[in-house]
Amino acid sequence: MFLTHLECSACGLQHQSSRLQNLCLSCGKPLLAIVDLDRARRTLTRETLGTREKSLWRYREVLPLPDNVEPVSLGEGGTPLLRAQKFGDDIDLWVKDESINPTQSFKARGMTVAVSMAKHLGATKLAVPSAGNAGGALAAYASRAGLEAHIFMPRDTPRANITECRELGAHVTLIDGLITDCGAEIALRKTKEGWFDVSTLKEPYRVEGKKTLGYELAEQFNWELPDLILYPTGGGTGLIGMWKAFDEMQALCWIGTKRPRMFAVQATGCAPIVRAFEAGEKSAGEFPNAHTIASGLRVPKAIGDFLILNILRQSNGGAIAVADKEMIGVTREVGSSEGLFIAPEAAACFVALKSLRSASKIRPGDRVVIFNTGSGIKYLDCYEDR
Ligand SMILES: *Cc1c(COP(=O)(O)O)cnc(C)c1O
Ligand SMILES: [Zn+2]
Repeated sequence: MFLTHLECSACGLQHQSSRLQNLCLSCGKPLLAIVDLDRARRTLTRETLGTREKSLWRYREVLPLPDNVEPVSLGEGGTPLLRAQKFGDDIDLWVKDESINPTQSFKARGMTVAVSMAKHLGATKLAVPSAGNAGGALAAYASRAGLEAHIFMPRDTPRANITECRELGAHVTLIDGLITDCGAEIALRKTKEGWFDVSTLKEPYRVEGKKTLGYELAEQFNWELPDLILYPTGGGTGLIGMWKAFDEMQALCWIGTKRPRMFAVQATGCAPIVRAFEAGEKSAGEFPNAHTIASGLRVPKAIGDFLILNILRQSNGGAIAVADKEMIGVTREVGSSEGLFIAPEAAACFVALKSLRSASKIRPGDRVVIFNTGSGIKYLDCYEDR
C-alpha cells in the first residue's frame, strides 16, 4: 500500500483512506490522496517506467489502488503527444490527444481510478451528475466493474452523451436544469438510495487518475515540463491533478522546480473562474445562466475553485474566456491543419492560444501544450448547419 491517508485541501484535516469518503467532514472541501513517495520511489523510477505497459496504470505506485487489487480498466492513458507545427507557427505547440481514451474523452482517466477504488472499498451503486462526457465514462467503468451507474443529466445534454450512457447500461435521469441541479438531486437522494457520489472532486480519486496527465507529459517531454499549459476548465480536475503530479515528481527527484504557466480556458457563457481571477478573488461565485456548447465547461460552480485560482496565480498563468462561435470556427482550422476533429472544449484552448499570441503573452519558441480532452464526434449537433 502506497496510499497512506486523505488530507483536506483546505483545512488539512486527515481522513482514513480505508473507507469510502466524499468531502472533508469538518469543512466540506475536497480531500486529496497522500501517497508514500519515499516507498514509491524504491520500485518506481524513471528508468523502469519505460518497460511498463502503455496505460496510466504504469504509475501504479503513485496511484491509490493497493498493488494486489486488479484495476477496473479499459485501456486508458498512454495517449499520443503530437506536434502541431502548422497551427503552432513559430511556437513549439503540442497537442496531447485524449480523444483516444475509452469513451473518447479524458474522463476515462479519472473514472478508471475512482471506480476501481469505489469497488475495492465496497460501493455497489455509483451516481454522478454530468452535462457531457463524465456520464459515459462512469457508465463504461461501472458496467465493467459490475456496479450500478445512476447518471443525472441536463435535458439539453448532447444526444451522443445520453445515448452512450443508456447503451452502456446506466440508469439515466434527465433533469430540467443545469449540472448543479443534477448534483443537488443526487445529494438529496443518495443516502436513501445507497449511492456513492463520484462527482468531480467530491470523492478523492478522480483527481488521482487525472494527475497522470502530468506524469505522462513529463515522461513524453523527457522530464522537462513545458512553458505553458492551456487547460479547458470545468471542474478543474486535470489542472489540480497535474499540479499535484508536478509536486510529487519533484519529491521523487524526477523534475526540478520549474513549473509551466497554467491557463484555465472557459466559455464566455460560463466563466466563473475567469471572472474570479480577474476580480482578484480567492473563490468563485456561481455563474448565472450558464450556457455553452462546450458541455464539459458548463460548470457554473466548481467546488475546487480556490485550488484552481491558487494554481493559476502561483504559476503566473491566467484565465481566458472564449465565445462558442469562435470555438466552432477554429475547429475546422485545427482539423484541416493537424488532422484532429477536436472537442469544442479543446477548440476553446486554440482560440485562447491565438489571443495570448496577439497579446504577446507567449513568446516565439515557447513550448505550449493543449489537451484535446475529447472527440468532436460527440458534438455533431453543433455542426449540423455548417
Ligand atoms: C469534463 C471535460 C472538460 C473539463 O474538465 P475538468 O477537469 O472538469 O475541468 C474539458 N473537456 C472535455 C471534453 C470534458 O469532457
Ligand atoms: Zn477541511
